[in-house]
Amino acid sequence: MILFDSHFHLYDEKYGNEQDEIIKNAHDNGVKYMVNIGLDEDTSKTVIEQANKYEGLYCAIGMYPEYCNDDEIDLTYIERLYNDNKNVVVALGEIGLDYHGEDVNKENQKKHFIEQIEIANKLELPICIHNRDADMDMLEILKIHKVNNGFVMHCFSSSLEIAKEIIKLGGYISIAGPVTFKNARGLIDVAKYVPLEKILVETDAPYLCPEPLRGRRNEPANVRFTAQKIADIKEMSLEEFSQITTKNALEFYKIKKDEA
Ligand SMILES: [Zn+2]
Repeated sequence: MILFDSHFHLYDEKYGNEQDEIIKNAHDNGVKYMVNIGLDEDTSKTVIEQANKYEGLYCAIGMYPEYCNDDEIDLTYIERLYNDNKNVVVALGEIGLDYHGEDVNKENQKKHFIEQIEIANKLELPICIHNRDADMDMLEILKIHKVNNGFVMHCFSSSLEIAKEIIKLGGYISIAGPVTFKNARGLIDVAKYVPLEKILVETDAPYLCPEPLRGRRNEPANVRFTAQKIADIKEMSLEEFSQITTKNALEFYKIKKDEA
C-alpha cells in the first residue's frame, strides 16, 4: 500500500530535531510521498532544503494569508526559489484567504492571493489553497481569476454546497484528520460527495491529529487513519482508496513515479 500525504509542515518547531524519525516513520507506514508546505520566505527556503534531503519529500512555496494583510509585501522570492529548485518545488502554497482572527485586511489578502495565482500561472504550477471564513470571496476570486494548472482546497472545512462549487470549478478537495472526529457530520457528507478522481488526503501535521490519536502531535505516518475513515465512507478498501488518492496527488503535483 502506498499513501501520499498531500500537505504538512516538517519544519514546525513541534518536531524539534526529529525530522529523520518523522520521515522514517512515514516510510515505514507506507507513506511514500509527502508535500511539505511553506508559509513565507524563510519556511519556503526550509521546505526546499528538506525536500532536497529526504526521499519522497516534495514542497510548496508561497505566502500564507495571515502574512498578506499589509499593502506592500515582497513575493519576488517565489519565482527566484522556484527557478533554482524545479526538481522539488511542485506547487505554490499555502496561499489563500483567512478572515479568522484580528487585524485582517481583506482587500490586501485578496490582492496578494490574486498576485500569487498569477505567479503560479506564469510558473505553470498548481496551487494549495488555505481558506478560512472566506468562502464567498474565495469562490468569486476562483471564478474570475482562472488557475491554469489546478488547485486543491487543503484541509477542507466548508459546507457541502461550497464543495460542489469547488468541484464545478475543477478543483480538488483534500481532507484531513477532522473527518475522523465525533462531530464530523458535515465533513462526512463532503467526503461522500467528492468524486474519487478529485479527492486527496493529508495530515496538515503537526496539527489536527486524527482519531484514535486525537490531541497528540500529528505526523504523516498518521494519514492512514484519515484514509481508512474516508475509505469506509466510500465503502471501499483502504488499499483501493490509497491507490486512487496517491494517483490523484501524483497527477495533481505532476510528480513522475520514477523520480522518487
Ligand atoms: Zn498547512
